[in-house]
Amino acid sequence: MFWADTITDEVEKRYADKIKAGEAIVVRDEKTASGQVHVGSLRSASLHAIVADVLRSRGVNVNFFFEINDFDPMDGIPSYLDEEIYKKYMGVPLCNIPSPEVGFDNFAEYYGQEYVRVLDKIGFGATVYRASELYRSGAMNDLIKMALKKKDLIREIYYRISKSEKPEGWYPINVICERCGNLSATNVTDFDGELVTYTCSSDTIKWAEGCGHSGKISPYNGNAKFPWKIDWPAKFVAKGVDFEGGGKDHYTKGGSRQVAETIAREVFEHEPPYGVFNEFFLVGGKKMSSSKGNAATAVEMSTILPPHILRLLLLKIPINRQLDFDPEGDAIPILFDNYDRLAEKYWSGVKDDDTQLFNFIHLPDERGDLPQRFLPRFSQVAFLVQMPHMDTYKEVEKMKESELTDVDIAELDMRITYAKHWLADYADDKFIFTLQETIPEIANTLTEEEKKATTQLAEKISQAEVLDGASLHELIHEVKEESGLSPKEFFGAIYKLFLGKESGPKVGWFLSTLGKEFVVSRLRLEK
Ligand SMILES: [Zn+2]
Repeated sequence: MFWADTITDEVEKRYADKIKAGEAIVVRDEKTASGQVHVGSLRSASLHAIVADVLRSRGVNVNFFFEINDFDPMDGIPSYLDEEIYKKYMGVPLCNIPSPEVGFDNFAEYYGQEYVRVLDKIGFGATVYRASELYRSGAMNDLIKMALKKKDLIREIYYRISKSEKPEGWYPINVICERCGNLSATNVTDFDGELVTYTCSSDTIKWAEGCGHSGKISPYNGNAKFPWKIDWPAKFVAKGVDFEGGGKDHYTKGGSRQVAETIAREVFEHEPPYGVFNEFFLVGGKKMSSSKGNAATAVEMSTILPPHILRLLLLKIPINRQLDFDPEGDAIPILFDNYDRLAEKYWSGVKDDDTQLFNFIHLPDERGDLPQRFLPRFSQVAFLVQMPHMDTYKEVEKMKESELTDVDIAELDMRITYAKHWLADYADDKFIFTLQETIPEIANTLTEEEKKATTQLAEKISQAEVLDGASLHELIHEVKEESGLSPKEFFGAIYKLFLGKESGPKVGWFLSTLGKEFVVSRLRLEK
């Protein structure tokens, strides 16, 4: 069963009455806009978006919210920003920090909107709102009052669930200092039912500087913010959330999910939403050099892969399994091959988990109308675009063995674009090929047996009438058998002669793209 169907079944079971009554199921996801969004966040995005999507496909009414969390304080300065400029904002809510680029209201808008554009592009878009709006609108006021009144219960829950000790007199809220605007440096010491008393001091937390001010202020309408473990359940209540998961790191025993659910029930007297965790998304990473693109960001990932292929990457394995992706290796060609296999199945009329997945990797408005088209292998397209003397369209037409239609050409154009991007910015050297105009130096390493075999192949090819990939494949295997060489030795010898390296694309197909005369003379070591 497609994993998202299993989770959606559970959502339908839990909220059967609500669904029956025609009420909307609320799905929520959020991301703190503290800098360029890491690709890992796309896993959370895919979990929530696919559950909303599958529910809708079953006719269920859904409100899917995405929160740009712009009310969290800056708690670290991204490496690509000037520390000297930003260190004074440590502890200040992100919505009150200037944008690094002109044209955006604030820091959080700049990074938040960038991420939202990615989500929209890949069909994971939702109704967007900001955490600052939620607080400023007053929607959190009652919850703030409840939490302040039950501060000792919250303290006890922190200790009971996560063994974390808060000092006596601790209040579960941070206010924004009226004088300096810092949130993390303030410490609330009293609540009289209407106003909180606070001090703003560098002693409150190591990394934020306070101004020494103390005062009294209303904690409502955006003057204050909950710490994360209370913020989360308060949002469950304020938005009426039915489905919301989170990263695996929050789901440990005694972790923030468990604390949040307990606070939802015991403090806010509200049943928390159903949710599951998402595993991490790792980018083959450590060895990625800085001269190459930065696939670790969601934005960059959305330029390396077209939307449906990125959705395939995100949806093909269950959400509770780790996803590892190395854009420098063969992960991208393999991903396209996966797509091609699913497409073939889908177009042959099969209905199973694979075709269900195939359906959902396309955007809702593309589904049901997926034109059958020729899908040239990505690895072969990536090879062809590196051969300046070859017409990629003609070669693909040969593969198809009939004229390319408009949809075939659109598909090929798309694959050419992404293949070029991959080759230019990511692909490992072993995928980079240059056809050698003259016999390369490495040909000197060929053994006598290998030379004998390549000459033998030249003879067979010169006598052959038909020279396509399949017939060449046969000839090559005949010669290999006769020569007694291993595939690695024989194919390696051929690649060395033409490409100056020991590996290359499928050898029969490769030679078929080069022209008989050239192939024969090169195999004879003539030029
Ligand atoms: Zn202050």
